[in-house]
Amino acid sequence: MNNIQATLVLIKPDGLKKSLTGNILTRLSETKLEIVAAKVVRVSRELAETHYCHLKDKPFFPELIKYVQGELHDRKKVLAMIYWGEDAINKVRALAGATNPEEADPTTIRGSYGRITTKGLYENVIHASTNEEEAEREIKLWFCPDEVIVDLYPTNKVKKELSLRVWA
Ligand code: UDP
Ligand code: MG
Repeated sequence: MNNIQATLVLIKPDGLKKSLTGNILTRLSETKLEIVAAKVVRVSRELAETHYCHLKDKPFFPELIKYVQGELHDRKKVLAMIYWGEDAINKVRALAGATNPEEADPTTIRGSYGRITTKGLYENVIHASTNEEEAEREIKLWFCPDEVIVDLYPTNKVKKELSLRVWA
Protein backbone atom coordinates (compact mmCIF):
# COMPACT_ATOMS: atom_id res chain seq x y z
CA MET A 1 0.00 0.00 0.00
CA ASN A 2 0.89 3.66 -0.06
CA ASN A 3 2.22 3.70 -3.57
CA ILE A 4 1.97 7.43 -4.19
CA GLN A 5 2.69 8.25 -7.82
CA ALA A 6 2.49 11.16 -10.24
CA THR A 7 1.42 10.76 -13.86
CA LEU A 8 1.31 13.10 -16.84
CA VAL A 9 -2.05 13.52 -18.53
CA LEU A 10 -2.51 15.42 -21.78
CA ILE A 11 -5.85 16.24 -23.31
CA LYS A 12 -4.76 16.09 -26.93
CA PRO A 13 -5.93 18.54 -29.61
CA ASP A 14 -8.77 16.26 -30.78
CA GLY A 15 -10.10 16.14 -27.21
CA LEU A 16 -10.09 19.94 -27.08
CA LYS A 17 -11.61 20.33 -30.55
CA LYS A 18 -14.39 17.87 -29.70
CA SER A 19 -15.20 19.85 -26.51
CA LEU A 20 -14.41 16.85 -24.36
CA THR A 21 -12.40 18.58 -21.62
CA GLY A 22 -15.27 18.55 -19.12
CA ASN A 23 -16.20 14.93 -19.85
CA ILE A 24 -12.59 13.76 -19.56
CA LEU A 25 -11.99 15.63 -16.29
CA THR A 26 -15.22 14.18 -14.89
CA ARG A 27 -14.12 10.67 -15.84
CA LEU A 28 -10.68 11.25 -14.30
CA SER A 29 -12.24 12.54 -11.08
CA GLU A 30 -13.57 8.99 -10.50
CA THR A 31 -9.99 8.11 -9.52
CA LYS A 32 -10.11 10.51 -6.51
CA LEU A 33 -6.58 11.55 -7.48
CA GLU A 34 -5.41 15.14 -7.03
CA ILE A 35 -4.48 17.49 -9.84
CA VAL A 36 -1.18 19.06 -8.71
CA ALA A 37 -0.32 20.97 -11.91
CA ALA A 38 -2.22 22.14 -14.99
CA LYS A 39 -1.58 24.42 -17.94
CA VAL A 40 -2.47 24.99 -21.58
CA VAL A 41 0.58 24.42 -23.76
CA ARG A 42 1.37 25.37 -27.33
CA VAL A 43 3.44 22.35 -28.32
CA SER A 44 6.67 23.07 -30.18
CA ARG A 45 8.04 20.55 -32.65
CA GLU A 46 10.92 19.93 -30.27
CA LEU A 47 8.61 19.20 -27.33
CA ALA A 48 6.46 16.91 -29.48
CA GLU A 49 9.46 15.00 -30.83
CA THR A 50 11.06 14.65 -27.41
CA HIS A 51 7.81 13.51 -25.82
CA TYR A 52 7.37 10.79 -28.46
CA CYS A 53 11.10 10.04 -29.02
CA HIS A 54 10.53 6.30 -28.37
CA LEU A 55 8.38 6.19 -31.54
CA LYS A 56 10.67 8.12 -33.88
CA ASP A 57 11.24 5.13 -36.19
CA LYS A 58 7.56 4.32 -36.63
CA PRO A 59 5.89 5.08 -39.96
CA PHE A 60 3.21 7.15 -38.23
CA PHE A 61 5.73 9.37 -36.37
CA PRO A 62 5.46 12.46 -38.67
CA GLU A 63 1.64 12.33 -38.51
CA LEU A 64 1.79 11.83 -34.71
CA ILE A 65 3.93 14.95 -34.32
CA LYS A 66 1.47 16.98 -36.43
CA TYR A 67 -1.38 15.54 -34.35
CA VAL A 68 0.02 16.44 -30.93
CA GLN A 69 1.01 19.89 -32.20
CA GLY A 70 -2.63 20.42 -33.17
CA GLU A 71 -2.05 20.72 -36.88
CA LEU A 72 -4.79 18.22 -37.69
CA HIS A 73 -7.41 19.93 -35.55
CA ASP A 74 -6.97 23.66 -35.87
CA ARG A 75 -6.35 23.70 -32.09
CA LYS A 76 -2.66 24.35 -31.58
CA LYS A 77 -2.59 23.45 -27.92
CA VAL A 78 -2.98 20.67 -25.39
CA LEU A 79 -4.10 20.73 -21.75
CA ALA A 80 -1.26 19.29 -19.68
CA MET A 81 -1.88 18.08 -16.12
CA ILE A 82 -0.24 16.05 -13.39
CA TYR A 83 -2.46 13.67 -11.43
CA TRP A 84 -1.07 12.56 -8.09
CA GLY A 85 -1.98 9.94 -5.50
CA GLU A 86 -2.20 6.23 -4.76
CA ASP A 87 -1.43 4.13 -7.88
CA ALA A 88 -2.01 7.15 -10.07
CA ILE A 89 -0.36 5.68 -13.16
CA ASN A 90 -2.45 2.53 -13.45
CA LYS A 91 -5.65 4.23 -12.33
CA VAL A 92 -5.40 6.82 -15.10
CA ARG A 93 -4.28 4.28 -17.72
CA ALA A 94 -7.24 2.05 -16.86
CA LEU A 95 -9.69 4.92 -17.38
CA ALA A 96 -7.89 6.03 -20.56
CA GLY A 97 -8.13 2.58 -22.17
CA ALA A 98 -6.04 0.84 -24.82
CA THR A 99 -3.92 2.84 -27.27
CA ASN A 100 -5.95 1.65 -30.26
CA PRO A 101 -9.41 3.21 -29.78
CA GLU A 102 -11.06 0.31 -31.63
CA GLU A 103 -9.55 -2.16 -29.19
CA ALA A 104 -10.17 0.01 -26.14
CA ASP A 105 -13.03 -1.01 -23.89
CA PRO A 106 -15.96 1.16 -25.03
CA THR A 107 -16.52 2.48 -21.51
CA THR A 108 -12.99 3.96 -21.36
CA ILE A 109 -12.12 7.50 -22.47
CA ARG A 110 -10.37 6.31 -25.62
CA GLY A 111 -13.03 3.69 -26.32
CA SER A 112 -15.76 6.31 -26.00
CA TYR A 113 -14.17 9.19 -27.89
CA GLY A 114 -11.20 7.97 -29.96
CA ARG A 115 -11.05 7.18 -33.66
CA ILE A 116 -8.60 5.93 -36.27
CA THR A 117 -7.97 8.36 -39.10
CA THR A 118 -7.98 7.32 -42.76
CA LYS A 119 -4.17 7.59 -42.58
CA GLY A 120 -4.21 5.03 -39.76
CA LEU A 121 -3.28 7.35 -36.88
CA TYR A 122 -4.93 6.66 -33.54
CA GLU A 123 -6.61 9.88 -32.44
CA ASN A 124 -7.26 8.83 -28.88
CA VAL A 125 -7.97 12.18 -27.14
CA ILE A 126 -5.73 11.65 -24.12
CA HIS A 127 -2.17 10.81 -23.19
CA ALA A 128 -1.30 9.10 -19.90
CA SER A 129 2.13 7.91 -18.71
CA THR A 130 2.59 4.14 -18.68
CA ASN A 131 5.09 3.59 -15.83
CA GLU A 132 7.05 5.47 -13.18
CA GLU A 133 10.13 5.97 -15.31
CA GLU A 134 8.11 7.36 -18.20
CA ALA A 135 6.04 9.52 -15.84
CA GLU A 136 9.17 11.13 -14.37
CA ARG A 137 10.70 11.78 -17.78
CA GLU A 138 7.46 13.26 -19.13
CA ILE A 139 6.66 15.37 -16.07
CA LYS A 140 10.16 16.88 -16.13
CA LEU A 141 9.76 17.56 -19.85
CA TRP A 142 6.39 19.34 -19.57
CA PHE A 143 6.63 21.11 -16.18
CA CYS A 144 9.13 23.11 -14.14
CA PRO A 145 9.31 22.38 -10.39
CA ASP A 146 7.60 25.67 -9.51
CA GLU A 147 4.58 24.80 -11.64
CA VAL A 148 3.81 21.77 -9.45
CA ILE A 149 2.29 22.29 -6.00
CA VAL A 150 3.96 19.24 -4.42
CA ASP A 151 7.62 18.17 -4.40
CA LEU A 152 7.82 15.23 -6.79
CA TYR A 153 11.54 14.91 -7.54
CA PRO A 154 14.76 16.42 -6.16
CA THR A 155 15.54 19.93 -7.40
CA ASN A 156 18.50 22.27 -7.56
CA LYS A 157 18.60 26.03 -7.14
CA VAL A 158 20.34 27.97 -9.87
CA LYS A 159 20.86 31.72 -10.19
CA LYS A 160 19.99 33.00 -13.63
CA GLU A 161 19.74 36.45 -15.12
CA LEU A 162 16.35 36.34 -16.73
CA SER A 163 14.59 38.66 -19.07
CA LEU A 164 10.91 38.15 -18.32
CA ARG A 165 7.82 39.46 -20.04
CA VAL A 166 5.55 41.22 -17.54
CA TRP A 167 2.11 42.81 -17.85
CA ALA A 168 2.41 46.35 -19.23
N1 UDP B 1 -0.09 5.68 -32.14
C1 UDP B 1 -0.63 5.44 -33.39
N2 UDP B 1 -0.51 4.19 -33.94
C2 UDP B 1 0.11 3.16 -33.29
C3 UDP B 1 0.66 3.42 -32.02
C4 UDP B 1 0.55 4.68 -31.47
O1 UDP B 1 -1.23 6.34 -33.98
O2 UDP B 1 0.18 2.05 -33.85
C5 UDP B 1 -0.18 7.04 -31.54
C6 UDP B 1 -1.37 7.16 -30.56
O3 UDP B 1 -1.89 8.48 -30.66
C7 UDP B 1 -0.69 6.91 -29.23
C8 UDP B 1 0.66 7.60 -29.44
O4 UDP B 1 0.99 7.31 -30.81
O5 UDP B 1 -1.42 7.45 -28.16
C9 UDP B 1 1.78 7.12 -28.53
O6 UDP B 1 1.93 5.73 -28.67
P1 UDP B 1 2.19 4.78 -27.43
O7 UDP B 1 2.59 3.45 -27.98
O8 UDP B 1 3.10 5.45 -26.46
O9 UDP B 1 0.72 4.60 -26.82
P2 UDP B 1 0.05 5.25 -25.49
O10 UDP B 1 1.07 5.22 -24.40
O11 UDP B 1 -0.40 6.64 -25.84
O12 UDP B 1 -1.14 4.35 -25.19
MG1 MG C 1 3.02 5.85 -24.35
